[in-house]
Formats: sequence, C-alpha cells, structure tokens
Amino acid sequence: MTQTRTRSTEIANAFAPPFDGQAASAAYRSALQVIGAAEPRVADAIRAELADQRASLKLIASENYASPAVLLTMGTWLSDKYAEGTVGHRFYAACQNIDAVERLAVDHARALFGAPHAYVQPHSGIDANLVAFWAILAQRIESPALARASVKHVNDLSDADWAALRSALGNQRMLGMALDAGGHLTHGFRPNISGKMFHQSSYGTDAHTELLDYAEVRRMAREFKPLILIAGYSAYPRKVNFAVMREIADEVGATLMVDMAHFAGLVAGKVFTGDFDPVPFAHVTTTTTHKSLRGPRGGMVLCQPEFADAVDRGCPMVLGGPLGQVMAAKAVALAEARQPEFATYATAIADNAHSLADGLMRHGARLVTGGTDNHLVLLDVTSFGLTGRQAESALVESGIVTNRNAIPRDPNGAWYTSGVRLGTPALTSRGFGADDMDRVATLIVEVLGDTRPTVTADGSNSKAKYALGEGRAARTRSAALELLDAHPLYPGLDLG
Ligand code: PLP
Repeated sequence: MTQTRTRSTEIANAFAPPFDGQAASAAYRSALQVIGAAEPRVADAIRAELADQRASLKLIASENYASPAVLLTMGTWLSDKYAEGTVGHRFYAACQNIDAVERLAVDHARALFGAPHAYVQPHSGIDANLVAFWAILAQRIESPALARASVKHVNDLSDADWAALRSALGNQRMLGMALDAGGHLTHGFRPNISGKMFHQSSYGTDAHTELLDYAEVRRMAREFKPLILIAGYSAYPRKVNFAVMREIADEVGATLMVDMAHFAGLVAGKVFTGDFDPVPFAHVTTTTTHKSLRGPRGGMVLCQPEFADAVDRGCPMVLGGPLGQVMAAKAVALAEARQPEFATYATAIADNAHSLADGLMRHGARLVTGGTDNHLVLLDVTSFGLTGRQAESALVESGIVTNRNAIPRDPNGAWYTSGVRLGTPALTSRGFGADDMDRVATLIVEVLGDTRPTVTADGSNSKAKYALGEGRAARTRSAALELLDAHPLYPGLDLG
C-alpha cells in the first residue's frame, strides 16, 4: 500500500478561512451569557461538551468538528422562518432571505460535486434517503401510472386507480449492502422504514477477502431485479467502483442510488475521482453534510436531471418546512469545501487512515479487508479476546472515543459486536498527521492488549464487563492528552 504521509504541520489550520480564536471567543462568550441567562444548565452543558471534545481522541468515523462559521450560522433567526416549497416557489410569504441561502447552498453543492441538480432541504441523512426513495418511486412508478390514467395529479385518480398505485408503490424491490458488511440501516434493514417499504435483498462481501464482490452483486441483481440498487456504506473500509455499479443497474433496469454520507468529504476533496466518484454514475446521490464533509448536521440529495422535479418535491412528500439556519450553514460549509485547503484536508483524512491501519497491523491487529482506502478502519477485536462492546468501553475509559461495530458474519451480533470502527475525519480537522495516527494506533493496541473480559458466575466470559490493567487508563489518557495538546481543538477559543 503506497501512501504520501501528511505531516501535522501542513494541516495545522485545516479550517478555511483560517480559524480566528479571538473572534470566536468573543462570539461564544456573549452567546453563552445570553443562553445562560435563560437556562444556565444548557450553557453549562455547552461548555462541558467543548471541554469533553477537547480532552479525548475522537475516532468516531461519522463525527467531525465543524468550523465556528458553520456553527455560528445555525444560531440565528433564519431558524424562525417557515419556507415550505422551493426557491422562488414557496407556500409562505416573505421568504426572500431563505431563498438566498438555499440558492447559495444549492449552487455551492452543484459546483463542488459537479452535480446537475442539488436539493439541500433534508434535515438528516435518513431524510435525504427517504426523499430519494420517494423521488425514485414517484418518477418510476407514480408518473407512469398518472400518464396511463391521463391525469396530472394523484388527487385526480379514481379510487380504483389510486388503490392500484398504492399497492404498486408498496411492492417494489431494493438491493443494498448488508448491515454486517458495512451497509446502513436505511438500505433495507427490516427495523427501519426502508425494510418495511421495500421487498429487500442484500449483498454482502466475499467470505475470504471481505471485499465487495461485483460479480456476486451482478448475479443477485439479475435474479432479484430491483427497482433501486443502492451503493454506499457506513462501515466498509474500501472504495467502491461506481462505474461498475451503474453498469449492473443499467443491465437490470434499476435506478442506481448512492449514499455517500460517510465519504462525501473524500469526493469533495477529490480523493475519490473517476470510477470512484459516485456523482456522475448514480441517478440519485444522497449524503449527510456533517461527517467527512464537515458541515452542519443535515442531508442533501444530488441527482440527474430526470429526477430533479421529483427530488424537489421532498416537501410535501416526506419533509415539512426546511431549516433555514441549517441550509445557511450548509452554504457556509460547502463554500469552505470549495477552498483548496479542503482538498489538502481530504487527502490528509485518507493518509491518516492508512497510517492508523498500518500502525494497527504492525502491532498484529486484524483489520477487516486487511486495510483501508477511505477514512475508516474496521478493527476486529476478537484476537484480543474481547467483544466490540468491551473494546469500546475500555477505549473510552482511556480517553479514546470510538464506536463498536459489527464485522462481516459477526458471531456476537449487532449489539455486542466483534469490531470497533475508527475514523480519521475529526482528528484530521485538529491537525493530526500520519505520525500522530501511528502513535494513536499504538495507544489503541496497548489498551486492548491490557483489557480482559470479566468471568461470569457460570465460568464464561462476560460480553460487556471487562477489567483494564492497573493504571492503564490513566497512562493512556495522559499520552492522549500530549497528542491533543499538540493539536488543540479550536485553538485560542476561550469561553472564559
Ligand atoms: N446513510 C449513511 C451511510 C450513514 O452512515 C448515516 C448515518 O450514520 C445515515 C445515512 C443517516 O444519517 P443521519 O444520522 O443524519 O440521519
């Protein structure tokens, strides 16, 4: 595996424009004074959260640190405005300022991702996926039904035609990545609405290599004939070839939907290009804006022109009024992501993941697929004799925040699991470089190597309880603090 190591100094100020600690301190001190006067306990929690985030190694692959510009944009009166509809076509009056921020977010999104169309209203990734599902159903099932009945609107259908359409909408098939292979619960998992809306089937990964097996996806697609083929993941540590996925979708008449929630930052920062950039290949691409893209919590849908009208009907299809303050923050984050510094940041995310993976493997740890080529690493903790739950807790106790995650064909199921997922977007935002990540890998292995499952009364190992070696948590915490102090979060931000 080749890699260019990014030294921490090159990305020490990864925010664009550069972070101004003095200005941010003034802004937040005033804000906390105002908030504290209304409910002091909320102001306390806000202060405590910053302190907590500053004091731990955050390796949760879906989290990041948004810039103060993004965060401050959310705390504004744009929140107080209703604006159902789309830019210039609202069901409420006096929406000119919401129009302005929504238009900016759309323009930035289209330019950043080279997308023909962007819809920035979804409140989260789940909402973005719901909009996408219903836009695809509207375009591919509802529109032809309306045309057959020679009507323009569902309200004009006869009761019998409406009943037939509802039944057709509820009888479609979706093929997505299995949850324990790294897929997301919105890709057809039964407890999620996607599994209840669609007849669902899922593709896994190869039993030996643990890599996506495109021939198997093709075989399943031919047999299952889905309306929607979904690509994208939450816990798969490799790139996906979207050109091949589109070829498969075309062969079986499926609509290709890509959920790039996790790796949108790598697409924006041109780490994933060519066949690995989903936007030119997918009919519909969804994303969150708060993970590697480093924006506010929210979602977004990008699509080819044929789906644009249907996607823009997200409200009233599945959404209510858009969040003006969050669309504004998306515009700020997307403007930041269009700066050249963001490409440096995205490259550093991937370099750091490589370094973390190399460091873990050098210490003998087993990684699912044997490495990474994106922003995350899936560490199999069974060789340490632990469940994911024990590993997660022991690491948190030692100042390293990760989350447990199922590994393919996980013997411990989705609750206890056998893995921990480690991601680099957040620490890279702090300016961590490859050498720092190598040190983090050592700390992780030291903690897990010094953690034992508690033996229960019947002599078996507990799946949740564990014991850490004497003094281990404190030693690791202090080593973590050294790294954290060298890369302060929001340097110069002092809440007073
Ligand atoms: N899609 C993928 C691939 C995800 O990983 C996630 C979140 O973890 C989501 C969708 C849902 O995003 P949200 O939590 O914003 O609803």
